[in-house]
Amino acid sequence: MEPEIRIPEEVELCMNLLSKAGFESFIVGGAVRDALLHKFVHDYDLTTDALPEQMHAVFSSLPVIDTGIAHGTVTVVVNGMPIEITTYRTDTGYSDHRHPDAVVFTPNLREDCARRDLTINALAYHPGLGIRDFFNGREDLQQGIIRTVGSPERRFTEDALRILRAVRFMAQLDFTMDPDTHKAILKHKDELAYISQERITAELLRILTSPGCSEAFRTYRPLFEVFIPELKEIPDDAWAHVLAGLKICVPAAAARFAVILAAVPVLPENFFSRLKMSNTMRHDTKACLAAASLPCSDRISLRRIIRILDIPFETWLSFRRALEPELDTESVRKLYRQILEDGDCCKVSDLALSGKDLQAAGLHGSEIGEALNTLLDAVIEERCVNNRDALLAYISKNSTGDKK
Ligand code: ATP
Ligand code: MG
Repeated sequence: MEPEIRIPEEVELCMNLLSKAGFESFIVGGAVRDALLHKFVHDYDLTTDALPEQMHAVFSSLPVIDTGIAHGTVTVVVNGMPIEITTYRTDTGYSDHRHPDAVVFTPNLREDCARRDLTINALAYHPGLGIRDFFNGREDLQQGIIRTVGSPERRFTEDALRILRAVRFMAQLDFTMDPDTHKAILKHKDELAYISQERITAELLRILTSPGCSEAFRTYRPLFEVFIPELKEIPDDAWAHVLAGLKICVPAAAARFAVILAAVPVLPENFFSRLKMSNTMRHDTKACLAAASLPCSDRISLRRIIRILDIPFETWLSFRRALEPELDTESVRKLYRQILEDGDCCKVSDLALSGKDLQAAGLHGSEIGEALNTLLDAVIEERCVNNRDALLAYISKNSTGDKK
């Protein structure tokens, strides 16, 4: 008996409309994979033998967006739910190691599945017809194996992004790599040079938040070194510490990345911009690194740490314990709770005055920001109480920028 996959009515409506017009359609890719794994399905992709212009006719009563007309993809919006529907196609060429030179539509579902990257991503499902599994994807799913559809060497040479996708799915699902796929990953790793940094970083971030993150870095260090050559500078004993730390640290990208980077002797100035990381990721990773070895066993020290953090305190604590497994996290946590309960001032926004008050007191431009930081230092270090008059008196006594 075919396993039951529950389908939202919006998706079923699309499939019914296609079917009434004489076309085939299947749910394909991630939705089938995740449904069979009893995981949350975040979006549904359909594949069909209808051509894009035929889809426009079939869905004439619904909003249809030409998402990628050259690739045969349209997005149909049903009750506000976007559903991507792509014409069965085969991809050929790949002279840039990333994109097919030509996309050829085909009436054959098997050919459409054959162009997909991994066996577990090449499953198709139709509620009336059941699962179509041309490449043993279901067995790989059951056994927890990541394997390319067809020769891994050929598939990675066609599109090098698949190398990172294979490692990402291994980490996300905590699967093991098929031996031939594994060998091809290491052999073709340098072809990542053909892939845009944005794509690489997007996969890296997903690996960092995955359950199998530590295992991915353990097995594929040389692959990560292709785009983070700084990892080569990490000595073996420190690397073992990193891998153990990645298992301890909560799955937050910045905290886990900081666990790795804390072992790099020197990070170049342009490190984060080279990786094209978001400002938030940059900021949070740098904040973790800045607070990696600051003392945290007394209230003043902990306030200084809270001051620079924008990530949840528990995330930082988990990062810190990953670096220092012997850390007494319970007593740090207790101290943190006291700080919260007493409403200690730890951020500029907690100060009992604002930039406007300082402006009214005669400060201008950058002096204002500097004064706020000076005041925050003073309050955190208990040299001034956090009340408006005391703060104004403090700033008039101490020239801006002079922290002592
Ligand atoms: P998720 O969205 O959870 O990351 P997904 O499997 O839906 O997983 P997508 O990137 O949304 O991944 O791609 C949808 C499907 O398209 C995949 O399941 C796979 O069949 C196919 N696919 C995506 N990228 C590639 C690629 N680079 N090479 C071959 N097939 C791909
Ligand atoms: Mg998807």
